[in-house]
Amino acid sequence: MITPEIAKHAQGLLDFIDTSPSPWHAVAMMEKQLQEKGFTRLEESQAWHVQPLGRHYVIRGGSSLIAFVLGRKPLAESGFRIVGAHTDSPGLRLKPRAPHQADTMMRLAVEVYGGPILATFSDRDLSLAGRVCVRSDAAVESCLIRFEQPLVRLANLAIHMNRSVNEDGLKFNRQNELPLLLSGLCDAESPEQKFLRLVADKAGCRPSDILSWDLNVYDTQKGSFWGPELEFIADSQLDNLTSCYAGLVALLETETSENTCVGAFFDHEEIGSESNRGAMGSFISDVLERVAYAIDTDTPGYKQALARSFMISADAAHAYHPNFPNAYEPLHRIAINGGPVIKVNANQRYATDSMSEARFIELCRQANVPYQKYAHRTDLACGSTIGPMTAARLGIPTADVGCPLWAMHSIRESAGVLDQASLLNVLKKFFAEPAVQSM
Ligand code: ZN
Repeated sequence: MITPEIAKHAQGLLDFIDTSPSPWHAVAMMEKQLQEKGFTRLEESQAWHVQPLGRHYVIRGGSSLIAFVLGRKPLAESGFRIVGAHTDSPGLRLKPRAPHQADTMMRLAVEVYGGPILATFSDRDLSLAGRVCVRSDAAVESCLIRFEQPLVRLANLAIHMNRSVNEDGLKFNRQNELPLLLSGLCDAESPEQKFLRLVADKAGCRPSDILSWDLNVYDTQKGSFWGPELEFIADSQLDNLTSCYAGLVALLETETSENTCVGAFFDHEEIGSESNRGAMGSFISDVLERVAYAIDTDTPGYKQALARSFMISADAAHAYHPNFPNAYEPLHRIAINGGPVIKVNANQRYATDSMSEARFIELCRQANVPYQKYAHRTDLACGSTIGPMTAARLGIPTADVGCPLWAMHSIRESAGVLDQASLLNVLKKFFAEPAVQSM
């Protein structure tokens, strides 16, 4: 049953997504909420001074964030309880020299980031958000910008020029057919001058001071509830802001725990995680190691802590769609609002093994939350998550889990209101559990 509290949590997720139109905004939003709950920022370039039960966070590259609450027990005797998720979503990003003229229109050139369903970006009220680097007196500064109103469009071709679209599917050539329509030409300004002026107005600087940007194409339509009981939600970026939000709220609500509780939120999962701030990089091990040393744990003690640690890699899962029964493994059909999904793959595309699976099931039981088990069709390539790479990097047993979605990587995905609350409850239980012997 959807209680007011459950609906409120789902609304909180939609609000979080609405204020997070890019990974940089998502991290800024997390930072704001962490600060409101007394977390303080640590800089990687400075010495760290932390106290027992301290609440802190670290940001790398503006789009990855690791937050933690130090535990009551010595780290070597309790270890880390880590929830990992990713801040990025597949989509379109602006090229460095994006503005250009095409016949009578100004357009913006884009690259495809990760693996979006490109057709879903067409005919939507798109806009731009992200980070701009600006020359200032002292140095280079970066600032977040967001165009609130619909600014650009990937207009479709009329069916009269694409007669077989309903039989063959909607396809875009990535180089020629994805540039976004921005404006009709005006003689006074070149496309570059016009676009730099728009960006400079948002950034509060002169056009000539703009050096570079990371600009993401986002959907201005807000998230919504749907269904007769309003039991579903639809929004962009449910993969994977559902997990970021649940992990963040679980950590914010953790007052004290025997264990050191960690929320690790990484950029670049959708493109393989290989970057200075991705899950395959050094960020997670650098932070955990420095946490250990900052509370006087030596190297053997740190390794001991890792051996007592556990990670929940939270990422969206595939819900069964009754219109496409043949796309799914018939014995592992996942219901929306049927509870968090445990993802299993013998080839370790998911990091779950029978021990971590069993441990997550026990957490669900303690939290009074249903769970489901997913395996991909054997004749289809399986996706992956940050789970296998962080497990490999840290040596920590890991369960890959997440909320089920329809239309993963569409600009408008759907999920279940109950699942979001269930994931939060099991993550809270995970952070609160007594320190256990290593499994
Ligand atoms: Zn994902």
